[in-house]
Amino acid sequence: MKESLFGFTLEQLSERLEGYGQKRSRAVQVWDWLYRKRATKFSEMVDINQESNQLLANHFVLQSLNEYTRQESTDGTIKFLFKLQDNNLIETVLMKHKFGLSVCVTTQVGCNIGCSFCASGLLVKNRDLSSSEIVEQIMQVQYYLDLAKHDERVSHVVVMGIGEPFDNFTNVVNAIRIIKDHKGLAIPARHITVSTSGLADKIHEFADIDLKVNLAISLHAPTDELRGQIMKINRAFSIEKVMQAVDYYLMKTNRRITLEYILLKDINDHREHALQLIALIGDRRHLTNVNLIPYNPVGEHRQYQRSEHETLLAFYDTLKKQGINCSIRLEHGTDIDAACGQLRSKQIQA
Ligand code: SAH
Ligand code: SF4
Repeated sequence: MKESLFGFTLEQLSERLEGYGQKRSRAVQVWDWLYRKRATKFSEMVDINQESNQLLANHFVLQSLNEYTRQESTDGTIKFLFKLQDNNLIETVLMKHKFGLSVCVTTQVGCNIGCSFCASGLLVKNRDLSSSEIVEQIMQVQYYLDLAKHDERVSHVVVMGIGEPFDNFTNVVNAIRIIKDHKGLAIPARHITVSTSGLADKIHEFADIDLKVNLAISLHAPTDELRGQIMKINRAFSIEKVMQAVDYYLMKTNRRITLEYILLKDINDHREHALQLIALIGDRRHLTNVNLIPYNPVGEHRQYQRSEHETLLAFYDTLKKQGINCSIRLEHGTDIDAACGQLRSKQIQA
């Protein structure tokens, strides 16, 4: 099968093209066509001579993702369903914010972590996405924006779609390198956020390579007892291990970390839980941001309900009063099942 041109960093593409007898600068030219001029056909790359153009077409493809369906929410959120070359379907979400346009990308077909509140976890992982399939999700959304001719650019990326990014570490890291390169899509590292369910060993690795992007950790409970009940990954990586990894990350990168916390009614939303969370954060508070997430009900997980809005605000107040940086996640696209934890593309295929 031909490879997608979107799976290579500039350096990797230079080497690959050199292997085909091309000069290294050819890769810069190709990247310009891919990411700046956004060519969707080789024939559009008019300043590349015919012989080289043919060589590219013989070895590479420009699109390995095809739009299958697209749904638009009343709040402007758009959920794209893309078909991969092996017919698997994945979901990508475009969200409009005051600060810009963000794309939520999928990293795996399904997810093996199986958190008890998440729709993606209902689907056993079928396979990892390649770097190009991750980058192409953003490109496809950008092509969509280009066609609308409002001169809009994807400005932010959140790696929070289907899958556990750190269970597909190499491809996700490579994709981030491609996405943030100023010669390519040029999405600044500080506008890219990766969320993990807390694979502590990979958090260490991520700290070591320091891509200068934001890291968010799905904590969701302040004690092992409770976290173990709602996230079975806690058996492999206890809160202590996760917090050790957090400390390592903070020490290595000196960047703030986000702790995500879904509020589940009467499960983890009491004042006592907020106090336990404050104690757990302890003197890391100046480098920590807690993101409170309203639970999006998932039909199969009837044991959970969304916390009352007053409970959410009270939880927020308790954290704030103790000097914890805290925010409440705004919801996007709930009417089209495009909100956090609601993505479940593979079922549509059945
Ligand atoms: N696998 C990664 C990233 C994808 S999930 C992770 O777990 O962090 C992105 C975020 O959505 C996570 O914080 C996850 O816990 C949250 N989430 C999952 N199901 C949800 C639901 N039903 N309602 C609200 N948030 C949910
Ligand atoms: Fe996987 Fe994240 Fe969903 Fe857990 S919350 S099942 S890790 S996608």
